[in-house]
Amino acid sequence: MTIRTRVAPSPTGDPHLGTAYIALFNYCFAKQQGGEFVLRIEDTDQVRSTAESEQAIMDSLRWLGLNWDHGPDVGGEFGPYRQSERTELYQKFAHQLVEQGKAFYCFATAEELDQMREEQMAEGLRPKYDGRGLRLTAEEVQANLDAGKPYVIRMMIPEEGSFKFNDYLRGEIEIPWENVDMQVLLKADGFPTYFMANVVDDHHMQISHIFRGEEWINSAPKLLKLYEDLGWEAPVLGHLPLLRNPDKSKLSKRKNPTSINYYKEMGFLPEAVLNYLGRMGWSMPDEREKFTLAEMIEHFDMKRVSLGGPVFDVDKLSWLNGLWIRENLTDEELIQRFVDWKFNTQTLSRVLPEAKTRINTLSDLVDLAGHFVGGIPSYDPALLTAGKADDAVITQALQFFIWELEKLRSWNKSEIFAIAKSVATFHELKIKEFLEPIFVAITGKTSSTSVVDAMEVLGSDLSRARLRVALNHVGVSKKQAKKLEKAYREYPTIG
Ligand code: GLU
Repeated sequence: MTIRTRVAPSPTGDPHLGTAYIALFNYCFAKQQGGEFVLRIEDTDQVRSTAESEQAIMDSLRWLGLNWDHGPDVGGEFGPYRQSERTELYQKFAHQLVEQGKAFYCFATAEELDQMREEQMAEGLRPKYDGRGLRLTAEEVQANLDAGKPYVIRMMIPEEGSFKFNDYLRGEIEIPWENVDMQVLLKADGFPTYFMANVVDDHHMQISHIFRGEEWINSAPKLLKLYEDLGWEAPVLGHLPLLRNPDKSKLSKRKNPTSINYYKEMGFLPEAVLNYLGRMGWSMPDEREKFTLAEMIEHFDMKRVSLGGPVFDVDKLSWLNGLWIRENLTDEELIQRFVDWKFNTQTLSRVLPEAKTRINTLSDLVDLAGHFVGGIPSYDPALLTAGKADDAVITQALQFFIWELEKLRSWNKSEIFAIAKSVATFHELKIKEFLEPIFVAITGKTSSTSVVDAMEVLGSDLSRARLRVALNHVGVSKKQAKKLEKAYREYPTIG
């Protein structure tokens, strides 16, 4: 049997470090045994999935050097590798499960289900689908279908007992069925949910081992029961520990940059990022800290993954990156890295229109436009709130600005400006007043080239990282953060 693993990201945002980490471990597991590694795009969420996100995920995995044997862009014998192109297959198996009495139609409307949950909560019960679809007679189901009523297909779940399975990394896990809901397999729009699509695909793509994040453990019974119901042999399943922030909370962009692009833009080397991800819960037999992908593959042993939450610490990564720069690159290679990164005509041609009108000598450029290539500028935090506007208003406006920018997919100055303007208006700030702290956050100075232009050139990841640092300077307590989230719900997002 061919060992075949996969990574199956949903293209709904920035390319996440977690995706690269899961990809790396699946990749090493397969390659160590001469197997294959597959990239599958799980884009069943039609609202949140975007082509840009898919491309960004592929670009960043490639940048890291994790190449797939089968995938949407390279093809492969079990394609297509994008779930939105496989809808009919999922529909076929969902209906087959209904015919075999292992799944059922439910015609309940969203309002009916809301009411059901409210009633359950009023009685002090945990809200849970109550199996109402199962109580319909065959005639009622047929009448509803004939009348063209929208439906979902849900899987049957035993009412009693528990489900036991053997996790490759964690040993036997037992989950009571009463904690498992009657999962929707096919949605009213005809698209599958994660479970249906994932099982059908892993089976058809002949995936032998699935290593996914531990956040999925509780859903393992549903997944494995589906294999049983469909009469398919299940792949081996293992759950890798989640990456954590240094304070042990789940790695999140609120506390750490999580987008792989950020690390690329900051000038981390892909070898170092991959090396550091390889040390998340795993180590070389001789405990050496620096190793290449080829060395990791050679010595890889999934059973040696330790399950305590591995901490992703940007300072440690920086230290390791420094080692890579000093010890693994010749001066010629390092020069080439600089050129590939930002010391090139492409960057200059984007910076010059801004700079040309303001310089007298070529050397003026360094002071004037250093922020176009630097990381996080240093400045006196008092400058952020030096204007007339109330500090609390500036804090909220900065936070809303970051959240709005996170949603922006086409990063250009007119969109960035429109968001800045709308956030300023919402907070009754003049645009100039609001741009002042942004100016400091982005350029580290109180005057320079146009800040919106700078943000366009810098790109989304670095711009947002600088704004986040500014927000940290201003300081947002946990309590304030909650308040901000609540206030943001009232914010009329544009676009
Ligand atoms: N699409 C899922 C995700 O985004 C895949 C989980 C899995 O590996 O099964 O994490």
